[in-house]
Parts: sequence; C-alpha cells; structure tokens
Amino acid sequence: MLSVVVPCYNEEAVVDSMVAVLKDVLPQVADSFEVLLVDDGSRDRTLERLRAIHADDPRFRYLALSRNFGKESAMLAGLSQARGDAVAILDADLQHPPTLLAEMLPLLADGKDQVIARRTRTGDKPVRTMFSKAYYKIFNRLIDVTLEDGAGDFRVLSRRAVRALLAVGEYNRFSKGLFSWIGFDTAVVDYENVARAGGETKWSMRSLVNYGIDGVVSFNSRPLRLAIYFGAFISLVAFVYAFWVLGDAIINGNKAAGYVTTICTVVGFGGVQMILLGVIGEYLGRIYLETKGRPHFLLKESSEGPEHTPVAVLL
Ligand code: UDP
Ligand code: MG
Repeated sequence: MLSVVVPCYNEEAVVDSMVAVLKDVLPQVADSFEVLLVDDGSRDRTLERLRAIHADDPRFRYLALSRNFGKESAMLAGLSQARGDAVAILDADLQHPPTLLAEMLPLLADGKDQVIARRTRTGDKPVRTMFSKAYYKIFNRLIDVTLEDGAGDFRVLSRRAVRALLAVGEYNRFSKGLFSWIGFDTAVVDYENVARAGGETKWSMRSLVNYGIDGVVSFNSRPLRLAIYFGAFISLVAFVYAFWVLGDAIINGNKAAGYVTTICTVVGFGGVQMILLGVIGEYLGRIYLETKGRPHFLLKESSEGPEHTPVAVLL
C-alpha cells in the first residue's frame, strides 16, 4: 500500500483540485493507497475542506495539528501516522506533480529506499536561483551530509526509511539534511518546475534565510570551529600590526598611529565578537530546546475520531 502525506497550511484554494488529481492518478500508480492530509493549524477553511473530503472518500484521512507547527512538523505528523509500505510526500499546491509517482514507485520496487524528485529552476526568480545555488555550494562545503540543489521534500520513502526518520527524535528538524543523513540507496528523478496551482507561497525571503541558517547549524558544529580559525587569524593580524607600529616607533621615531586605527580596531572587534557570540548562542539555544524534550507537534483532531486521536505522539 502507498501512503501519500500532504502538509496543508492555508490551502483552501487548492486542496479540492489537489484531491481530485490524486483520485485520478493514484489508482494508476498503486494497487491500494491512502492519503494523509495534515492540516498545519490553517487559519482559513482548510480543515473544513479536509473533513468534507474524508467524509466523501475514507481513503483520504486527515490530521489536524493544534496550531501552525511548520511544514517539518506537519510532514513528521503524517509520517508517524502513515500505514503504507511506501510513503510519498507531496505539497498541497500541486507543485509536486503526482503523475511523477508513476516513474518513482518502480524505482522503489527495484529496491531503492528513497526516490528523490529533483526540480529544475525554470520560472524561479533569478535572484532566488542565484542565492540558492550559492547556498548549496557553501552548505555542501560546510556540512557532512550532501544536499542537492532542487531536491526538496518531494520524495517516496520505503517503510524502512520512514522508520529511520522517525527514529531521529531531534526537535529542530531540517528534513533536507535528515533525508540525506539516514542514507540507504537513493535514486533521483528529474522534473520540470511547475507554478503553484493557487493560493500563495508561505516562504518570504526572511524565512528562507532563517531556514538556511537552521540547516547549517543543525548538521554539525563546524561554524564553531570556523570561529576559532577566524579568531586566530584576527589575533595574528593584530600581532603583526603591533610589531610593525612598534618597529616604526623605535627605528623611525614615529609616534604611534592616530586614533582612527584605535576606533576601527575596537569597533571591528566588537562586531566580530558579537557574531561569534551569536554563533555560540545559536547552538546553546538548540541545546536548550532539545533538552526540554517537547513533542514535535500536538493533534487536535483526526479522521480516526476523538478516541483514536492521541494528543501528543512520541516518536
Ligand atoms: N506548509 C505547511 N506548514 C507551513 C508552511 C507550509 O504545512 O507552515 C505546506 C504548504 O501547505 C505546502 C507546502 O508546505 O503544501 C509547501 O509550501 P509552499 O508551497 O508555500 O512552499 P514553496 O512551494 O513556495 O517552497
Ligand atoms: Mg509550493
């Protein structure tokens, strides 16, 4: 059986058409299937739509989180409740064409544990493409797992890979990295970028930048190591400069250079220290969050009815 997990946040404009497409496509690609629609605390009428969709066709199950926990948590909620031998993750906006499953599932049947759909960047804003490309270059240098440009959350996982993902209990989840971290045999299928079917993206430039920082910090402590190198480099420069000024004063009798140097040094170092403190703080904050051991999401409702809906799901 195939489970399809679809995180939905304020997607009332597209859920119905998405469900219609799935009803059409899924019977062609899988013997039996279930769809798990996860409402991530939508503020529009998405949840009402999900209830209606389930009432109409029980193969479409739904989960409703108690508030907006973010796509990572919504996907995790879906994965934790999926029953299939294979689990596909799709966006609600039809940007992940379900027809591609016809290409992806046979690879899984061939023994792969993950099949990644990789999109082209046609139609993306050039600035965003440029930043993304640069980000992946730097990320892959900095971090132990490799991320592929264009490979997002659209993928099919074997039951084994799902178990592996659920076994990683960390609170700050950066799925792109986790998918790569769990390993297993992986195949890649390419597809042409598609525009949103309706509604609008939940990503602003700011949230993308934050997401980027999350990714780097989630995957190792190399930024802390960089801080040490950086500190050592600056100290060396200061040392050499001090020697130079001293030599200049002794040999040429020059009085020590003016206050501009002093101010620049003080302000410059202040900045560097702030940044490095920020790096340390970033890790400290994560340790703090992880030690609390809070659940990743809370459920308020599901298609299984109140008795069969756990509020907190421990992984
Ligand atoms: N999403 C979610 N919770 C959020 C933000 C987004 O579940 O807090 C879902 C959203 O409903 C969609 C998917 O994540 O199904 C991708 O979101 P979006 O299309 O806005 O991202 P983009 O395709 O622009 O990267
Ligand atoms: Mg989208």
